[in-house]
Amino acid sequence: MEETQCRSSKKKVVAVVGGGLVGALNACFFAKRGFDVEVFEWREDIRKAKIVRGRSINLALSHRGRQALKHVGMENKIVSKGIPMHARMIHSLSGKQSPIPYGKKGQYILSVDRANLNKELLSEADTYSNTKLNFDHKLQDWNAETGLMTFVRPDGSQVQIKADLIVGCDGAFSATRKQFLRRSRFNYSQTYIPHGYKELTMPPISGEFAMKPNFLHIWPRNTFMMIALPNLDKTFTCTLFMPFDEFEKITTGDEVIRFFQKYFPDAIPLIGVDALKRDYFQLPAQAMVSVKCSPYHIDDKCVLMGDAAHAVVPFYGQGMNAGFEDCIVFDEMMQQFNEDFSAVLPEYSRVRVPDDHAIADLAMYNYIEMRAHVNSKWFLFRKHVDNF
Ligand code: FAD
Repeated sequence: MEETQCRSSKKKVVAVVGGGLVGALNACFFAKRGFDVEVFEWREDIRKAKIVRGRSINLALSHRGRQALKHVGMENKIVSKGIPMHARMIHSLSGKQSPIPYGKKGQYILSVDRANLNKELLSEADTYSNTKLNFDHKLQDWNAETGLMTFVRPDGSQVQIKADLIVGCDGAFSATRKQFLRRSRFNYSQTYIPHGYKELTMPPISGEFAMKPNFLHIWPRNTFMMIALPNLDKTFTCTLFMPFDEFEKITTGDEVIRFFQKYFPDAIPLIGVDALKRDYFQLPAQAMVSVKCSPYHIDDKCVLMGDAAHAVVPFYGQGMNAGFEDCIVFDEMMQQFNEDFSAVLPEYSRVRVPDDHAIADLAMYNYIEMRAHVNSKWFLFRKHVDNF
């Protein structure tokens, strides 16, 4: 087994575990402060990979996420490749479309491509000479007393590495968080909702978007719903959210069409009968989990951010945005406490846990609001600019 202390300059070494959206952005924040940053990512380098595995194809980027990108000079680059969505477009059963603006005139959220965003953030992190990206490194375990981390490589070999600060950005099923679970007074809960999701593609028609592009389209059907976000290639990614037992009832292509005829008839010609029959069965429905925990830190050694700290259900469109905001909040505290980890980490937990828990609760609330309440008159009078 290989054991190394990460690079030995005068500056402290920060190990970011996970090179997903939050990890890659966080690497930029720490690099900007001059730390020696090492990112350890389980997957291969997605900038070189042919197929990028991951969750949703596109994401809604909102104000809090943009603020974080701005801090590292990435806002314009990402916004220029995003598609503004000024309003929700509600599709009724009869096919009638009614817009509900997100806020005042000129306010909007953006549909951005997840893979491109992740690639851009990794490339940005790579531009700092004090940052090293280590792909194909899966965190297996780490020691809270010594800070020694053990990574497994694809060939089965192990690498042991020490850092001054470990930043766990390794997602909802975080390996970094496992050490926290062994400690006294660490609170943890996880809840799987009964719904799963499937993604379907709506192709362009004669080279143009099949529906109005500057909207987040919603087909609310009470116990389930479909949404669609636009992509730069003029497709829409449609996501069908439905209880798992309902997904399981549909077993043939004809049943898919019958289901769509009953609930989403206007979407059938836009997605296409053959594509629907085929794509519905391409992947099983994916589960959605909500994770809450507290505190987010261990001593001055380790801190959790992004989904590793707070995976939320996607109905508020705020999981990534909240994770990006974690990076800003932490950075502001680094400034306030002169980069003293023993002061920053407890303060970060104190301030951030209630806010992230609030986002998790709002996301659960919106789980019902989006599929049911958007049908009600009451909803039409309400305005939210920062969520789905
Ligand atoms: P992840 O994106 O999960 O990244 C974690 C990274 O860590 C991955 O690269 C993974 O390979 C790596 N990793 C995992 N384990 C290890 C290990 N042991 N060692 C090393 N590396 C490891 N959020 C929004 O803000 N807006 C939206 O519109 C939105 N839509 C969504 C739609 C769906 C269907 C879903 C499921 C989620 C959506 N989200 C949205 C939430 C968003 O996807 C997450 O909040 C976001 O991806 C969290 O980023 P992260 O970097 O914390 O975690």
